[in-house]
Amino acid sequence: MDFTVSERMQTILGMVEEFVEKEIIPMEADYFRRPFRELDPWLEAKRDQVKQMELWAPLHPKEYGGMGLRLTDYALVAEALGYSPLGLYIFGCQYSDAGNIGLLARYGNEDQKERFLRPLVEGRIRSCFSMTEVEVAGSNPTWLLTQAARDGDDWVINGHKWFTSHADGAKFAIVMAETNPENESRHRRASMIIVPLDTPGMHIVRGVSVMGHVGEAWDSHAEVLYRNCRVPRANTIGEEGQGFVLAQERLGPGRIQHCMRWIGVCNRCFDLMCNHVRRRRRTPDEMLADSDVIRTYIADCAADILSARLMVLNTAWKIENLGVKQAMKDISMIKYFVPNVMQRVIDRALQCHGGLGMTDDTPIAFYHRFERASRIADGADEVHKISVGRRFIRDYDSGRTKVKW
Ligand SMILES: Cc1cc2nc3c(=O)[nH]c(=O)nc-3n(C[C@H](O)[C@H](O)[C@H](O)COP(=O)(O)OP(=O)(O)OC[C@H]3O[C@@H](n4cnc5c(N)ncnc54)[C@H](O)[C@@H]3O)c2cc1C
Repeated sequence: MDFTVSERMQTILGMVEEFVEKEIIPMEADYFRRPFRELDPWLEAKRDQVKQMELWAPLHPKEYGGMGLRLTDYALVAEALGYSPLGLYIFGCQYSDAGNIGLLARYGNEDQKERFLRPLVEGRIRSCFSMTEVEVAGSNPTWLLTQAARDGDDWVINGHKWFTSHADGAKFAIVMAETNPENESRHRRASMIIVPLDTPGMHIVRGVSVMGHVGEAWDSHAEVLYRNCRVPRANTIGEEGQGFVLAQERLGPGRIQHCMRWIGVCNRCFDLMCNHVRRRRRTPDEMLADSDVIRTYIADCAADILSARLMVLNTAWKIENLGVKQAMKDISMIKYFVPNVMQRVIDRALQCHGGLGMTDDTPIAFYHRFERASRIADGADEVHKISVGRRFIRDYDSGRTKVKW
């Protein structure tokens, strides 16, 4: 495997890094303190600038207005954008839209692509993904209480979801609902259905407060009720009963984006930490950086970040060259490894800043609160570890041994 960065990508990365540094980071203090909608005019102006620079939607298909980068190249862009909490949003590759775009590009029919995919890639609308339910464990994606019943050419959906992130102000949700309860395989019972948010029966109950933050618009997580919510069966993505398989497919490239963004968070905290300890005096003659304990924190962070980064790039390479199926172990492995690395790096950075680390004068306290979700959202650590352990044991059963690339 070769992780050489092409000349074109070096240019692109240079432009992205400069934009993040000069145009986005100065706005962060407002993001931490003001309601998200108040930032709209500024965010839109920045998004227009990105479009003019032809850096818009780096991962998304060219024919719909994106840059169409291959996954291993996009991974590096996601890392650069992860350096600021607003990076992905301003470059048009924010979650959950990114996952939904991947899904619609691959499995949507022509009508769905024109009505939902194109405006989504162009950044004219937003979307959300509605799978996790209030009453049953989200860790078991094959168990859903939300039902979509056939009624002529329509689905009639009833269910109760939460953590439908970004629903406030979104144009449509992709809803996971049970459509084929009679199927013998529990992996073939659910479908993904596009539900426009103005459909009668679709109710946002509340914005769920997460770590003391309710948020709004893209920066929020909704509890949602579907009550006799009627949409055409033509809104099904892919085939009926294919929802679970599509959910697995949605994860691969999405996982790379999340994990590289988290490496970006690590890099940001590492930079802040190294700069702080070089400037902060511990005595009139000594800096914090002169302490051996602080140096071990830095060394541990560096090794953590580098190992996590290589694991993610390796996984991106596997997905690109061998396909999602061949990379399933790696996709699960980075999902628990990288968030734990990130949590350690954030925590050490916070510790080195002392009281300053607890304030909102740096982004570290924000990361400490906000990124804790990374060990739960998109599958809790334990669930992914169990899956990886099971897959390795299966390998040994069939004669394949050792941890290999
Ligand atoms: C900030 C945030 C944003 C999110 N955004 C979205 C979104 O946009 N759309 C969406 O559909 N969902 C979203 N989610 C939901 C997320 O995917 C679920 O929270 C996650 O899948 C876990 O499900 P759960 O919360 O029901 O936890 P549960 O399934 O109830 O699990 C609780 C805990 O039990 C343990 N556990 C669970 N299963 C096992 C097991 N088999 N073995 C051992 N231990 C186990 C784990 O420690 C786990 O954390 C979001 C969550 C958060 C926190």
